[in-house]
Amino acid sequence: MSGERTVGTACVIGGSFAGLLVARVLADHVGRVVVLERDDRDHGPLPRPSVPQGRHGHFLQPAGLDLLEGWFPGLTASAVALGAELASPGRHQLYADGVPVDFPDVTMLIASRPFLEHQIYRRVRALPNVEFRRARAGGLRFRGDAVDGVALRPVEDGGGEHPEQVLAADVVVDATGRNSPLFRWLGQAGFPVPAVLRHPVNIGYTTALFARRHTAGGPGVVCALDQFVTSEPSRVGGDRPAGAAVYAVEGNLWQLVVMAYGRDRRQVTIDELRALAAALPEVFREAARGRPVGEIARYFYRAGVYRPVVDAASFPTGLLAVGDSVASFDPIRGQGMYSVARQASIIAEFMAGGGNLATGSRDCIQARDAVVGELWAETEGALDLG
Ligand SMILES: Cc1cc2nc3c(=O)[nH]c(=O)nc-3n(C[C@H](O)[C@H](O)[C@H](O)COP(=O)(O)OP(=O)(O)OC[C@H]3O[C@@H](n4cnc5c(N)ncnc54)[C@H](O)[C@@H]3O)c2cc1C
Repeated sequence: MSGERTVGTACVIGGSFAGLLVARVLADHVGRVVVLERDDRDHGPLPRPSVPQGRHGHFLQPAGLDLLEGWFPGLTASAVALGAELASPGRHQLYADGVPVDFPDVTMLIASRPFLEHQIYRRVRALPNVEFRRARAGGLRFRGDAVDGVALRPVEDGGGEHPEQVLAADVVVDATGRNSPLFRWLGQAGFPVPAVLRHPVNIGYTTALFARRHTAGGPGVVCALDQFVTSEPSRVGGDRPAGAAVYAVEGNLWQLVVMAYGRDRRQVTIDELRALAAALPEVFREAARGRPVGEIARYFYRAGVYRPVVDAASFPTGLLAVGDSVASFDPIRGQGMYSVARQASIIAEFMAGGGNLATGSRDCIQARDAVVGELWAETEGALDLG
């Protein structure tokens, strides 16, 4: 931890993957970090209403796991002790239309998204200078061109909201995800509103859980992705089938995920999923042989979103965004959580180098956008898509 605290209070809006990681890195340099999250954060490792994608398989890139281990030493080992799997070479497999293809010799942590997020939450909540408040942020307060607070309404357990309050803060970090209200709030306060870039994706996710017949920690493949390169549309119902993935997650469950581009939003049944799995490699067939657990989850992802700050000089000081609020990518690429972690690491590097986020946030935003812009260009193909 750094000896000198350059900022008094930082407020992080959103206590999901991005909010948790940024709270962790801020805690090293900021006197007090207040995380505002509208969902109940103490409900355990379960999907949350505001993060519906949490019901679907989340692949964490190895570089993202390395960053997490740096902030939370021992996270991987403790996750495995609690039922997550380590997919070392030989335990993960990539296919193209059922034919094995080479995949880098990496080791990955395989767990559900709510489980991973909960392990991180427990660790961040234990930090002495981080506090969590169940509240919905409704806008920002400014003094001149500097942010100096957040308007919020505390949320009760039943979902009811209390009258508005203002939390004074020297730094505000928006981590509200892909539907971020940040640019709207800026417009309401009279600041220029930067352009938002969007790229059509239109991918549907269908996920089902099946009881795993073999105990966790045993041999065999625990994670596989089959990319459908030449498959017929009828195979999964979408206009353009994309692939299927299977993950051995905690709780001795298989998470079977089917992805298809197009506008078909028909509910897929267990029998259809089983029929699909029957035509896939053995690990998919094995997963679908188990007893179905819970409901089938569907998610439709319409478009990638990127909110770069092109004119940093007209952006308020002390204010920045992180995570999907900045950029959200076609989920099939498994970029999201890595992008979040990389953005948090840029903030960490900025502060470790002596940067003060209350006064120098614009420099930090430029460093962030240099990295996120590259990820966006890689995944979406261009930077100027309207
Ligand atoms: C179907 C699907 C599959 C995906 N698969 C993968 C994958 O395999 N690998 C991968 O790396 N990524 C994947 N992603 C992307 C990943 O889910 C996101 O990148 C990640 O969740 C971003 O985290 P975040 O904290 O920025 O936003 P979110 O997780 O969306 O969280 C935003 C948080 O802000 C809170 N919030 C919002 N507004 C307010 C407010 N006004 N006041 C208080 N709180 C507020 C919400 O309650 C929520 O908790 C997938 C995404 C989708 C849609």
